[in-house]
Amino acid sequence: MAADTIFSRIVRREIPADIVYQDDLVTAFRDIEPAAPTHVLVVPNHIIASARDVTDADEPVLGRMFAVAARIAREQGIAETGYRLIVNCGEDGCQEVYHLHMHLIGGRPLGPMLAAPRGSSAH
Ligand code: 5GP
Repeated sequence: MAADTIFSRIVRREIPADIVYQDDLVTAFRDIEPAAPTHVLVVPNHIIASARDVTDADEPVLGRMFAVAARIAREQGIAETGYRLIVNCGEDGCQEVYHLHMHLIGGRPLGPMLAAPRGSSAH
């Protein structure tokens, strides 16, 4: 069995979070350190550690994550103005929590997609 994560404890409602949506496959809750007026994390209810661990069997839950993100964006009033969906993977992707999650970020212009770390080069 996969190790427990802070997000699986939120899914089970063992620790507090501002949950905006939950069903049999996914849970969505507000990020504790929002990067924009809307910053929601959409997670599978079962642990998939990272995007690199996704298998064919995960296709239903991955589809649900996108559908729920679109639904929340509409509910939050950001569907028309637009938003960004981000999935960080592994060390170079700056993944902090090893429970797959999609960031839904919007409510202000978000600027260019990548901010390079100081002193780094894209090449
Ligand atoms: P990552 O870098 O792994 O893609 O992003 C993890 C995100 O989870 C971060 O934006 C961080 O603020 C958020 N986060 C970490 N711990 C908690 C928590 O206990 N509750 C909530 N709501 N968000 C968390």
